[in-house]
Amino acid sequence: MADVVVDGDRIARIGTGVAEGVSPAQDCSGKLLLPAFIDGHVHLDKVLIRDELREHDGTLGGAIGAIHERKRRYTLADVSERAREVIEASVQSGTTRLRSHVDVDTIGGLIPLEGVMAAAAECADIAEVRTIAFPQEGLLRDPGAYDLMEAALEAGADVVGGMPHWEPDHAAQQEHVRLCFELAERFDRDLDMHVDETDDGGVRTLEMVADEALRRGFLGRVCAGHVCSLAAAPHDYAERVIDKCLRAGISIAANPVTNLVLQGRADRGLVRRGMTRVGELRAAGVNVLFGQDCVKDGFYPFGRGSMLEVALISAHAAHLTTRADLAFALRAVTEAPAQAWRLTDYGLTAGARADLQLLPVPSWEEALRLQALPEKVWFKGRLVAENTVNSKLHRRH
Ligand SMILES: [Zn+2]
Repeated sequence: MADVVVDGDRIARIGTGVAEGVSPAQDCSGKLLLPAFIDGHVHLDKVLIRDELREHDGTLGGAIGAIHERKRRYTLADVSERAREVIEASVQSGTTRLRSHVDVDTIGGLIPLEGVMAAAAECADIAEVRTIAFPQEGLLRDPGAYDLMEAALEAGADVVGGMPHWEPDHAAQQEHVRLCFELAERFDRDLDMHVDETDDGGVRTLEMVADEALRRGFLGRVCAGHVCSLAAAPHDYAERVIDKCLRAGISIAANPVTNLVLQGRADRGLVRRGMTRVGELRAAGVNVLFGQDCVKDGFYPFGRGSMLEVALISAHAAHLTTRADLAFALRAVTEAPAQAWRLTDYGLTAGARADLQLLPVPSWEEALRLQALPEKVWFKGRLVAENTVNSKLHRRH
């Protein structure tokens, strides 16, 4: 039990009795005060398009193909309205920071970036949204995408994305990785790439990414998302590349909610789970975060911007049940994405930005089990969302 004093947009002090004489005051006794969640991996440009897509086979390739037609019809207003809806839903569920990939390719051009940036600007009073320029269709596979990546970074995209495994062969994958690092260095941006989102254990661009980061001394500035094939690769490769990730300070964004349903679809009998080696990465000390990734798009029919739901589904997928495991699940939607994002003002600590949420439960374990909605959410010290739940039980006696 401690008092938290907020002054302006910052946490001024934390400790027993430090709130003496401060007003107005909020009684939080018996409840759980947490830093607001961070969604470190989401695709706001694609959210909520599912009802307009043709049916496909449910695979990653099927979904990417099915989205092409819809992506051609994107308009700035269309993207920004859908993105805004999910940003608002996220804030209602206790998330005040989101890092969104936005497709940058010759199909949609810069419309996805412009739409998400417009939504971010419109929602700047309730959340902080950063963008990652993401060459979803490849850089070599999609001639013209590289120029658009440069234009996206010039237009204000915050982070350089990538998807090396989507290139046709080893040499093209290597070149894709090199181009992404080159862009990141030239524009002085961090990197957040989609890496090895496949069941094929022979696909190994994670090692290329780690080697490139080590070679260039680009340390602590890279996040690798999905990394599904690491689970299907032999243990010796996994051990070697996990060690390289640790040395390069690479964060891993596991996205179990999407990959549980997207990967392993062709397996019979023992079906792979489609998620990366969360246990081994955690044991090695690699920074692991959980992202929402998708909300009702071609890849995933569910999602509602709730990091509490993401943590619960990820806990099932990654066998997280002990107290230490559940603390790890909390870290994966709070401190871990903050570290990947290199935030220096995050957390429940004096001096941190006052992005907070108050949950009507006594503990994190209960928040996770009961999927409690936050009673209040603060962004930069200002109350930005409230939830009240009214449920009744009609007994006979
Ligand atoms: Zn993704």
